[in-house]
Amino acid sequence: MISLYDNVLVAKIYKLGESNKLSYINFIIFVTQSKYNSMLSYTEENYLKALLKISFESGLDEAGTNELASALAVKPATVNDMLKKLKEKKLVDYQKYGKINLTAKGKKNAVYIIRKHRLWETFLYKKLDFSWDEVHEVAEQLEHIQSPKLIDKLDKFLEFPEFDPHGDPIPDKQGRLKIQNRKTLTDIAVGSKCKMVAVKDNSSSFLQYVVKVGLGINNEIKILSRQEYDSITVIEVNGKRSSVSQKFSENIFVI
Ligand SMILES: [Zn+2]
Repeated sequence: MISLYDNVLVAKIYKLGESNKLSYINFIIFVTQSKYNSMLSYTEENYLKALLKISFESGLDEAGTNELASALAVKPATVNDMLKKLKEKKLVDYQKYGKINLTAKGKKNAVYIIRKHRLWETFLYKKLDFSWDEVHEVAEQLEHIQSPKLIDKLDKFLEFPEFDPHGDPIPDKQGRLKIQNRKTLTDIAVGSKCKMVAVKDNSSSFLQYVVKVGLGINNEIKILSRQEYDSITVIEVNGKRSSVSQKFSENIFVI
């Protein structure tokens, strides 16, 4: 069991993602059960979610005001006002214009919002035939519904899925999730093969582009060539060849 509250371990998980091993490693992130704060506004919930994403992706277990502002597409001054509120509710710790940390209570809430978001995405995709580029926007709304009973029933109805349609892990009822030791397509050498497990960018335009290239979750990708000058890469998926940009490759997670 790995605790999401342990900064050293979070940093280790991040480093493993960068390692050369292609093996599939399961890490369990354990978030102790306690009451979730059901008195949060949509905006507050979105702040917590963005903070968890930044803290986790940076591997530092913290976020900066500017990073948070750009993730939420708001001005740093707006972020500061909201941080004050979140601090009063004991959800974050921060110094003015300094680094922001989610408290244990803040993390618990953030993980729960992500659980709801990813379960709803899975439901829309699997049961209502939404395409994978349509589910995010709808799940952004559904994730704010306050009914733990509904979420537990939804989880059971979907037979306890571990990953959402974009390949991201779904936290279970206890807040535990599976972390894959994944890399991006940019890390794979010419002549090598890899398997796509997730996408970094969840925007419709990117997801439609991925489909156009003939790629999907669990597809095998072969790297045929890569231009030294601009990193334009020729890949082969199910016999189909395509040239993809550096930006494209940075947004495809593989193992
Ligand atoms: Zn989403």
